[in-house]
Amino acid sequence: MIDYQTILDEIQHELSTCEHRGKVASYIPELAKIDTANFGMHLQLLNGKSYHTGRSKTPFSIQSISKVLTFAMAIALQNHNLWERVGVEPSGNPFNHLSLLEQEKGIPRNPFINTGALVICDILISELEHPKEAFLDFVRKLTNDPSINYNTAVAKSEQRTGFKNFAAANLLKSFGNLKNDVSEVLDFYFHQCALEINCKQLCNAFYFFANNGVCINNSTHLKDQHVKRINALMLTCGFYDEAGEFAFEVGLPGKSGVGGGIVALLPDEFVISVWSPGLNEKGNSKLGMMALEMFTTKTELSIF
Ligand code: GLU
Repeated sequence: MIDYQTILDEIQHELSTCEHRGKVASYIPELAKIDTANFGMHLQLLNGKSYHTGRSKTPFSIQSISKVLTFAMAIALQNHNLWERVGVEPSGNPFNHLSLLEQEKGIPRNPFINTGALVICDILISELEHPKEAFLDFVRKLTNDPSINYNTAVAKSEQRTGFKNFAAANLLKSFGNLKNDVSEVLDFYFHQCALEINCKQLCNAFYFFANNGVCINNSTHLKDQHVKRINALMLTCGFYDEAGEFAFEVGLPGKSGVGGGIVALLPDEFVISVWSPGLNEKGNSKLGMMALEMFTTKTELSIF
């Protein structure tokens, strides 16, 4: 029997002495205010048991982790040519890199880099009458938690300073890979990134990727074939240009965001999330990566 609580507490204790905790994402001014001393973890097993340590109930900005959830919505709608508009290869570049998009004629490498996520936003805007409300509703259903909401101050903050995303959206538009207004696509994108969530809610939101498409309260389902593809994309493209490192160190599909959150999962076994806002040079939570490496090493649980 694995003593999960002791393992989580050990990880938190060992990392609490780390002097270099990374840097917060200051290019979004609201995120620059977050204290790097924060650290929380939550583990949800598929047998119903759960464990947590640290500030696992403090909400943080989901940022790029949201891209997996909007992508799940888009893939479930199916009635559009999604794969003609976005690829499935790792980019090997930072999340906001643009020159590859120019070379590859406006087709983003994958749905988890910013340009790919903007195309997914565009698809959802075309498909749904009220995409911002529909996304919120989707996450609330997945987590069974109506209290989850957007942090509009974070959305506005990025709206004011997200110049690269404005450039990305305009470049996509120039290649004909956005059908809707650039401003509408960006408004939805900045809101999805500004969703606030805690470690426990994040595990619940990603539970269906570990549970063959069935969410924690059975209310929302995703087809098995879609779960397979999304988990594969998380493994290969979930960590900017550090996806290889994450697979090597941790060995789980997952996704990170510049708010300092990481969620990862072992199909049929568990979902685990960690939040530590200081980022490494690649934009992933510095202590979050270390915590998950320690977790899969101590438990000997990974997909490999
Ligand atoms: N909203 C952030 C951006 O577009 C998300 C980045 C991230 O978490 O990777 O720059």
